[in-house]
Amino acid sequence: MPGEDGIKVLKMLNDDGSGARIILVSGMDERTLATTLQVGRSMGLDMDGALTKPVLIETLRAKLAGATSKRTGIRVDELEQAIAAGEIRPAFQPKAVRGSNGTWAVTEAEALARWQRSDSSIVFPSEFLGVAERSGLLSAMTRSLLEQVVAQLQLWERRGLCLSAAVNLSPSTLTDSTLPDYLSSLMQKHGLGTSRLTLELTESAAVQNQSLAMEILSRLRILGFGLSIDDFGTGYSSLEQLYRMPFNELKIDRFLVREIGVRREAEVIIETIISLGQKLNLDVCAEGVESRDVVEFLCAAGCDKLQGFYIGRPASPGALLYRAREFEQCGFEPVMTQSCYRQREMPLPAPMRYQ
Ligand code: C2E
Ligand code: CA
Ligand code: CA
Repeated sequence: MPGEDGIKVLKMLNDDGSGARIILVSGMDERTLATTLQVGRSMGLDMDGALTKPVLIETLRAKLAGATSKRTGIRVDELEQAIAAGEIRPAFQPKAVRGSNGTWAVTEAEALARWQRSDSSIVFPSEFLGVAERSGLLSAMTRSLLEQVVAQLQLWERRGLCLSAAVNLSPSTLTDSTLPDYLSSLMQKHGLGTSRLTLELTESAAVQNQSLAMEILSRLRILGFGLSIDDFGTGYSSLEQLYRMPFNELKIDRFLVREIGVRREAEVIIETIISLGQKLNLDVCAEGVESRDVVEFLCAAGCDKLQGFYIGRPASPGALLYRAREFEQCGFEPVMTQSCYRQREMPLPAPMRYQ
């Protein structure tokens, strides 16, 4: 694209309201590609990954075949019905947290949206978030998820598991000034303190109305909710946001974490982010932890929260409860379920049964 750049083209597609599935093909390095993908996603574009040049014809063919077979052609009315029917449900991924006595326990979980269709197939957020965002359904979807997550916290508590949960908020949700009051009465209704819920935010820089977003975030923090800056180290996240926005946690992006043991520069950046977090009194959580070696590196670097397939895959509330108990007894070291967690994600059981 002589005289142009990929980001400009993405902006143009976005301005056109494009619903096309997009694959980046570039000679740039992986980090730049990851950032560009992130930028596209934050606009609500349907980004399907990237290929590095030179591209082999077989690779291109496979990628195109994958992209066309994945095209589900989700319709707005279909998604609307799914939200109303409660088919968009949270899967929970455990976070291992190091306590003040140095022991690790599963005390938190991130809720990730899953569309559980009536035929038991699962649709992942990358397939429907863009549609939800463009059609104005995102707010209804987020509220439905928040209600399910908070109700689940209460159910776990009844079964003796006191967990906190994190829910992802899209920047476009930060235009709703009723959100703090809504969340605070939701927690009250379930008899839970506000500190049991954290809101994870990405791309705050992409927020249209900065002062309204800031007002909402500050109110949430004053009410006692946790605020986490997601995907730190890539995309739009910036150092400036760390002191301008009232965050109390930062999550190191999994694209950086996966470079541990591969690129020394990435390791240095991660160590620096951890020490920056400590100095700013922020909790630091590393995402995308997939192996024992990565756990060891992060433990030694002083990271106190770990999330990733090695700790546990996103799973049903029942499976999360089981994993938390198992972790209590065996720590990181896998026993039976670890192998089951390594498998692909299972459909969530019907709501009535898993509670
Ligand atoms: P995220 O917030 O960064 O969530 C983590 C993603 O990484 C999840 O993908 C999770 O399944 C995946 N993951 C977790 N551990 C590992 C690991 O060890 N290795 C690898 N390779 N991947 C891992 P998922 O569930 O497909 O979600 C994708 C993104 O969609 C999320 O990224 C989040 O930005 C967004 N999302 C998910 N649920 C919601 C939601 O309810 N609302 C909004 N606004 N966004 C959501
Ligand atoms: Ca997240
Ligand atoms: Ca993340």
